[in-house]
Amino acid sequence: MRELLGGKGANLAEMSRLGMPVPAGFTITTECCAEYYQLGGGYSAELKAEVAEALAATEKLMGKHFGDTEDPLLVSCRSGARSSMPGMMDTILNIGLCSATLPGMIKKTGNPRFVYDAYRRLIMMYSDVVMEKAEGIEPEDGQGIRQQLDRMMQELKDAKGYKSDTDITAEELKDLCDKFKAKVKEVLGVEFPDTAEAQLWGSIGGVFKSWNGKRAIAYRRIEKIPDDWGTAVNVQSMVFGNMGNTSATGVAFSRNPASGDNKFYGEWLINAQGEDVVAGIRTPNPLNEATKTDHNKHLESLEKAMPQVYAELDAIRLKLENHFHDMQDIEFTIQEGKLWMLQCRIGKRTGIAALQMAMDMLEEGMIDERTAIMRVSPAQLDEILHPVLDPASEKKAAVVAKGLPASPGGAVGTIVFTSEAAMAAAAAGKKVILIREETSPEDIEGMRASSGILTTRGGMTSHAALVARGWGKCCIVGCEAMKINFAAKSVSFAGSDKVYKEGEWFSLNGSKGCVYATKIDTMDASENPLFIKFMSIVDKYRRLGIRTNADTPEDADRALKFGAEGIGLFRIEHMFYGRNSETPLTKLRKMILSSTEEERRSALAELLPFIKASVKSTLKVMDSKPVVFRLLDPPLHEFVPKTEDKKQEIATELGVSVVEVEKRGDNLHEINPMMGHRGVRLHVTYPLIAETQYRAIFEATCELKREGFNPMPEIMIPVTISARELSFQKAICDRVLAEVEAHYGMQVEYHFGTMIEIPRAALTADRMARTAEFFSFGTNDLTQMTLGFSRDDVGTFMGDYLGNKILDADPFQTIDVKGVGKLVEYGIQNGRSKRADLKCGVCGEHGGDPDSVRFFNKIGVDYVSCSPFRVPIARLAAAQAAIEQDK
Ligand code: PEP
Ligand code: MG
Repeated sequence: MRELLGGKGANLAEMSRLGMPVPAGFTITTECCAEYYQLGGGYSAELKAEVAEALAATEKLMGKHFGDTEDPLLVSCRSGARSSMPGMMDTILNIGLCSATLPGMIKKTGNPRFVYDAYRRLIMMYSDVVMEKAEGIEPEDGQGIRQQLDRMMQELKDAKGYKSDTDITAEELKDLCDKFKAKVKEVLGVEFPDTAEAQLWGSIGGVFKSWNGKRAIAYRRIEKIPDDWGTAVNVQSMVFGNMGNTSATGVAFSRNPASGDNKFYGEWLINAQGEDVVAGIRTPNPLNEATKTDHNKHLESLEKAMPQVYAELDAIRLKLENHFHDMQDIEFTIQEGKLWMLQCRIGKRTGIAALQMAMDMLEEGMIDERTAIMRVSPAQLDEILHPVLDPASEKKAAVVAKGLPASPGGAVGTIVFTSEAAMAAAAAGKKVILIREETSPEDIEGMRASSGILTTRGGMTSHAALVARGWGKCCIVGCEAMKINFAAKSVSFAGSDKVYKEGEWFSLNGSKGCVYATKIDTMDASENPLFIKFMSIVDKYRRLGIRTNADTPEDADRALKFGAEGIGLFRIEHMFYGRNSETPLTKLRKMILSSTEEERRSALAELLPFIKASVKSTLKVMDSKPVVFRLLDPPLHEFVPKTEDKKQEIATELGVSVVEVEKRGDNLHEINPMMGHRGVRLHVTYPLIAETQYRAIFEATCELKREGFNPMPEIMIPVTISARELSFQKAICDRVLAEVEAHYGMQVEYHFGTMIEIPRAALTADRMARTAEFFSFGTNDLTQMTLGFSRDDVGTFMGDYLGNKILDADPFQTIDVKGVGKLVEYGIQNGRSKRADLKCGVCGEHGGDPDSVRFFNKIGVDYVSCSPFRVPIARLAAAQAAIEQDK
């Protein structure tokens, strides 16, 4: 039904079937919209005949005739797409008022003021929607016909000293209507149509055309609504909320859409038409006593003003909820004391409200557990887990630039341009936003100290994005419009010469990628016991395991609290970034810059205790849960010291000159490091480096076992392309294991596996599975290598690919099902053909992306692994995927 009638039409029909007071009318289907476009903006004879027939039936029900000179029927034309697009398309009210019907209408109502007010509204809406927008006219800013007419009305009010629209007299309105029509002719060059019939067909076409209006197209892009759905048109008898003080209009929600409170919530205005409530010209009154706010507590509620109508509306609200089993967004009008329902639809809501309503309705027995799970979208859950900018405060601020929304939530702080400044400010208890061109491992501490991170370059899986998401820290990357002047410690944005200096307030909306050069309030919605209860229900339905990408005991602990069942990726190199990394990093640098085997061996011996300590502390937190340790992955040059004092430090350690350190560092330089000497390749060249890591992991395991713990290490080799790389490593690993076991006098259980992150590895999965007991798909690199898009530079052109619809989504965020996804699917099947119990995980960023999780659930992945803050989102997405699959 919704496909043909659109949401609004289907629900009007439903309300009417339920015996609710709905003004008579009919719906022109979405198919007619498609036909209208096929006919190049025309109507078939069949449609004309059917509309005439439906109009006649409406006339019969209402006892009035459209275009009648004695007692004319007036109608409205409203859009209604299959899924709701609030405010994106157009509506025309009071259709049928023209020189032939005005006198009859005045006589019948005895209220010329009301009639001319309705007429002036028709002229305003019709000229705007049908004569200007639908004609594709794009006036200069402020010169739209609607704005010009608004100004004329305001001038009249100013001249007369009127405060409200309702102060304007009938005579003045009559005169204003004539002036309006003259203005329409002058600006648009066409007479305002003066027959009911012409207005009706003009309005139907206007609504059809609003489907392709700018706002509607933009909204469809964001909400991923297909362009070919089209809109239906609802033609409905007019009822009037502006017939005096026993008339009113309002909008309401069956529960509070911001908090989820089970209280009837809404706004209404006496003696007004629908648009007045939304337009915000007058402050609307509260619906009832229970939901009054500071803002409107002085205004009379509908409950007090019209108790009987309120009671009827309240009963309808309950009936609607019981019928649709969800929160309803309602529009109503009261005409001379009689209530009319104009619309109901499933109401939009915030994350916290979605959670509250789902749990309440479950408790009330209105919905079952599966439905409750489906009611909270992963994006809404994400919203609950991060502090966010207060929407009301954000609305008032101007966006200075936009970037990629790399890590959600809101951040507010004063801007700084170096990691040091960020740390100093944080130490002094100040909140800061760190602004960088891009971030390097040396910025980690500064990033941690900041409330939010903003970078000029980088994509969604750039270093800054990845790290920030891991911490649940708000982050915007790829803000190309930003120009940083490091010397002056200032920043400016393309299109404006305003310069912002260090210490000025900025706010970031990491969910939308919006940057504000002002201080915006934040809200924290995460402290909710309902969340925990909801997640326990979620876990009953999912089949996918959920692990986390974590490499410190703190992150592991946080992930456990969020429900992680193991660590799917412990990146060993992360111990060389950030807090307490100074000493191990120096040892690592010493090892990297060694020139002889002997030097390297001695540096590695010094490094081993640090790796062991890092491994051990996390294994301990994750007791009895699997932890996948991934061997050192980045190209070594990333760790080469850059500052003079660090170079000097290493020179002293190695007993060589700074010039020699520089020379050795230069030798490690690579043209294309992402495809260079990294991952397993390092460990083929330097088996000793691998050996040290194996030893550290096994020794940590033995020590924990001795202490009574139950460590479950898994070892994973990155960036492999060949089964022989694996057997080469496995031989070293088993040799080290035997040595460690002999030393500690105990046996160690572990699993040996590989990342699958290069197409060749996926294509030769059966061979890889001979040695590998598990696969973990590194979909970050697999995407990079399959598409040939650099993870770090993709920000410069991704916008063009998305804007031109060459790609539907950023493949670094949502798995490219057709290409990369196929490789993953093939890799799993091919691998399991050799080893039936091959465990397959995904540890790329896609492991926390709901759409990707849905795909992984379908193709037989055993678990996904994602950053701690994404664990609940992955749990929810996995449950929703399982529920959908079982349907
Ligand atoms: C990957 O490539 O998907 C992965 C998880 O490894 P990294 O991001 O560390 O390269
Ligand atoms: Mg990788």
